[in-house]
Amino acid sequence: MKLSIRSKLIFSFLSLLIIPLIVVVLTLLVLNGGIFNVPLLENVAHIDTVTTDIVNIFEANHNVEDLTVIDEEIAKQKQNYFNRVLYVDTDGNIRYDSEHLLAGKDISELIVEEVNFLTYDVISANNIAVGKVMLQPTLPIADALDFILFLPTLIMIIFIVTIMAMMLILSKILSDGILKPLRELNAAADRISSGDLDFEMTYKKDDELGKLCIEFDRMRHKLKNSLDRQEKYEQSRKLLLASVSHDLRTPLTSVKGYVEALQDGIITDEGTKERYMQVIMEHTNKLNELIDDLFIFSKMELGEFKIDVENISSDFLLESLLLPKEMEFKDTNIEYIIDKHFPEELVRVDKKRIGQVVDNIIHNASKFTNSYIKVYTDVEKNYLRIFIEDDGIGIPKDELPFIFDQFYKVDKSRTSTSEGTGLGLAISKKLVIAHRGRISVKSEMNEGTTFKIELPIIQLEQPTE
Ligand code: ADP
Repeated sequence: MKLSIRSKLIFSFLSLLIIPLIVVVLTLLVLNGGIFNVPLLENVAHIDTVTTDIVNIFEANHNVEDLTVIDEEIAKQKQNYFNRVLYVDTDGNIRYDSEHLLAGKDISELIVEEVNFLTYDVISANNIAVGKVMLQPTLPIADALDFILFLPTLIMIIFIVTIMAMMLILSKILSDGILKPLRELNAAADRISSGDLDFEMTYKKDDELGKLCIEFDRMRHKLKNSLDRQEKYEQSRKLLLASVSHDLRTPLTSVKGYVEALQDGIITDEGTKERYMQVIMEHTNKLNELIDDLFIFSKMELGEFKIDVENISSDFLLESLLLPKEMEFKDTNIEYIIDKHFPEELVRVDKKRIGQVVDNIIHNASKFTNSYIKVYTDVEKNYLRIFIEDDGIGIPKDELPFIFDQFYKVDKSRTSTSEGTGLGLAISKKLVIAHRGRISVKSEMNEGTTFKIELPIIQLEQPTE
């Protein structure tokens, strides 16, 4: 049952009062019907009338010499209520005994009976007490009267015992529903402040505190993710430093070796010289690209990076960016497929930078694809869309949100080369955003990955910046 804390408290307080009352009433009903063979309340109500009637008989007849005349009347009245009726005058003389044994005796001489008598004053017509009527109740009536006397105490006892039982039950319910989650929250807050995030909240009921616990757990989860990510970044930065120095040193050492060999003059053969020069050129290009990435990125970080935009037709842009790549893949086992139905729209771009984005994504695809890289384009809602699809190993779902983050690299063991700084997609994203565009990715593990670049189309009637 879904109850708010407020309802729980109201319900608790009410039940603390109502349930003991119900228990008292039920107990009385059970006792009334069960213990006495005649219904208790009925008899007790009637006994008053009977008593008053008997007292009235004596008030009317106290002057009569022989009270046996009232025998019949008394017998009729006392019935099941009283065993014996005595009338004692003010001097202590027993003037009437319904059993006809004690009349004429003094009341003080009599041994007190086990069952107590009920005593009532008999008042004469001129308001003077003339004697006492003593009534000996039958056993059930005596029990009932005793019970009536004991009733307030019994009610108190039942009430108090039920309240105590209720308090135990309610404190357990409230403690389970309020204190337990509060204690858990407290312990969780302690664990978080001591840096421990590897736990899960167990209280998940659908109430305010349950929601708070779930929310708290969500926060813990987020914090853990962000700390994990931060740790991963730190790790990447360290790796970056190591890999940058490695990536710089390897081609440099190699270049140095070739240059020294050329300087030494050992190489005379023109063909070998040419090959050496070629290798030097390739290494220098690689160095150049790496340094370029780092340079652009640090400029972007410092906010000093500017793009140099011009209005250009999208078909012209796409042709010049995509077609030359056909040659690159010609002698590889990657099939490079371009859908050449390029849209003819006007876009405002820095051709070199958008080229860099496309290059980077195609280059990534070439590292991971199985058989093909497919590029297709279209226009939707005033955006030129460029899709770059591969059928490679894909990117794990939980890594997808981070791949555009700087220095973020999906598990290194996936590639045979140690190539890559984790900057490519971060730079690409910044470049696309600088063009007021968007970049996104869809990927299925072992099925492939599709990157989508979206660039805004310029409407001719709109003035350009
Ligand atoms: P890098 O410069 O190291 O390649 P990127 O920022 O370009 O870094 O890419 C980030 C990560 O995204 C890479 O580590 C790579 O594992 C993953 N990735 C990028 N493109 C693809 C793709 N087409 N298929 C699978 N993984 C990819």
